[in-house]
Amino acid sequence: MTSKIQAPRGTYDVLPEQEGARDAVDRAARRILEGAGYRRIETPAFEATELFSRTVGEATDIVQKEMYTFEDAGGRSLTLRPEGTAPVCRAYLEHGMHKLPQPVKLWYLSSFFRYERAQAGRYRQFWQVGVEAIGSDDPAVDAETILLLHALLTELEVRDISLRIGSLGTPASRAAYREELKDYLRSNEDRLSEDVRARIDLNPLRAFDADHPGTREVMAGAPRLLDHLTGEDAEHFAEVRALLDRAGLPYEIDTTLVRGLDYYTRTLFEFTSGVLGAQSAVGGGGRYDGLIEEIGGPHTPAVGWAAGIERMLLAAERLPEAAPVVDLFVAYEDAGRRAEAFSLVADARRAGVNTQLELAGRSLKGQLRQADRLGARYVAILDGEGMKLRDMQTHEQEDVGSAAAVVAGVLRGRHPG
Ligand code: AMP
Repeated sequence: MTSKIQAPRGTYDVLPEQEGARDAVDRAARRILEGAGYRRIETPAFEATELFSRTVGEATDIVQKEMYTFEDAGGRSLTLRPEGTAPVCRAYLEHGMHKLPQPVKLWYLSSFFRYERAQAGRYRQFWQVGVEAIGSDDPAVDAETILLLHALLTELEVRDISLRIGSLGTPASRAAYREELKDYLRSNEDRLSEDVRARIDLNPLRAFDADHPGTREVMAGAPRLLDHLTGEDAEHFAEVRALLDRAGLPYEIDTTLVRGLDYYTRTLFEFTSGVLGAQSAVGGGGRYDGLIEEIGGPHTPAVGWAAGIERMLLAAERLPEAAPVVDLFVAYEDAGRRAEAFSLVADARRAGVNTQLELAGRSLKGQLRQADRLGARYVAILDGEGMKLRDMQTHEQEDVGSAAAVVAGVLRGRHPG
């Protein structure tokens, strides 16, 4: 026998019964984000590879190990988007959105691709909902975006969430700190994991992310970036915290918070859920004041976040169900009435009635059972010479003379009076 072809490792099919829950995320995101003035954007699934290597950072796991990069037939290096911020910033620049009133507030719900080790809550194609507020350095934007993500998680009843925030300062304040951290790491080199040791120069901050026990012990005593924030960076962070306090949103300050992308400056945050196990991050983000300059634009401060759809659904309290509403099922007794049944379906659909036709050659009894399984509100029955309309709630049945009368009967039932 020929071997079966399966979905690639780390990917999954969204089956119809899962669609309701995903749709609920889409609707909640739209309501909350558009209510706050964010407008939806969709960018291409692939971009020039350089967009990500320049912004996410050459030394990050994403760029070093996780990108789906390929050469197209024209010899260009392209990459399936591993994240949403750089593409949205590229679009902002490309379409001259800096000429619009700032900040430009955008949101997206799209799929992303990373060659990661597949495990529960971690996929190679996954979906994120995200926002980017581009063109303002006001700490109120940082606080607002954090509150919006909190609102979304609350609306979806994501369980046991907590928020950690930190600040990375600006590249200038970070540079001095990086040197200090590098010296510290070098003086403890023999206790570090090989991975961390190899990247002391490239990416010393990632050492805070390591699982390796020796590295963790060393990092517990490492100098902290938050203690090195200078005047304006410290003030910015204090203001973000004050606004979150004012909004009554609890958080923990995490001096070791680093995220796997290089473009962050100043505010950094992450929501985790206590019910998720190892992959506990549901969503996070931060400020990226230097990113647009990295891709050839003017200095443009911005902040954003992304949250994983799979993880939000895994950690959500209850998943909404999605069964399509069936107003009318059209049943017929013998094949001679089939064409008539078919045209009745077309008439009903034109009138806005959700209608389904018998398609499996069932007996009339079987058709009524099927209508019941579908939860149809009415069934039109074409039998003998006549046409009947059966109310599946009251089980009342009336003779009707025409397709128009069937449609009118269903519409009357939908909007009585
Ligand atoms: P990041 O873009 O890495 O900051 O990730 C933001 C959020 O996306 C995380 O908090 C996760 O919820 C989700 N996420 C990231 N990578 C994956 C993945 N490989 N599979 C599923 N969800 C992911």
